[in-house]
Amino acid sequence: MASWAAAREAALAVQPDIFARHDHGDCVRRTLETVEADCTARGLRLTALRRRVLEILLEAHRALGAYDVLARLAEEGYGSQPPVAYRALDFLVAHGFAHKLQRLNAFVACAHPGERHRPAFLICRTCLAVQEAHLDMPSEGIAGAAEAVGFTVERVVVEAEGLCPECQAAERA
Ligand SMILES: [Zn+2]
Ligand SMILES: [Zn+2]
Ligand SMILES: [Zn+2]
Repeated sequence: MASWAAAREAALAVQPDIFARHDHGDCVRRTLETVEADCTARGLRLTALRRRVLEILLEAHRALGAYDVLARLAEEGYGSQPPVAYRALDFLVAHGFAHKLQRLNAFVACAHPGERHRPAFLICRTCLAVQEAHLDMPSEGIAGAAEAVGFTVERVVVEAEGLCPECQAAERA
């Protein structure tokens, strides 16, 4: 029991359960602080633009496409050329501060920045809210199946699609 509680505590180190009501201001602030500290420690440049893109991704914990991000940047005067958004997103993804969701071709801010982890995503098909789940070995089953056929797994992406608690409540209403 204690270890489950500890694991849950560790999993929630930077962001709480984002499907639940939470102090979102604190959630955003803690994530940005963690990313800033990690950039400093690793000698990475978190420019104003890169930081702003991360903030935009964090705003509603929703998956955003590159063009959604670009539209926001253009509104704020950062420029309207696609590379502006793509380069910033590439930086965030390359350094583990954001993840790309393959199925939606969209991006989310990482809930465990600066930690080595294997992301697994719970994606709400209605509101596109994304929770990054904490799984120790999401790829275990696949690894066994792959080994049986002599396949070498290099990367496993876990994306579960469904309904968040709020959208389930809305469907029942
Ligand atoms: Zn939040
Ligand atoms: Zn992550
Ligand atoms: Zn939802």
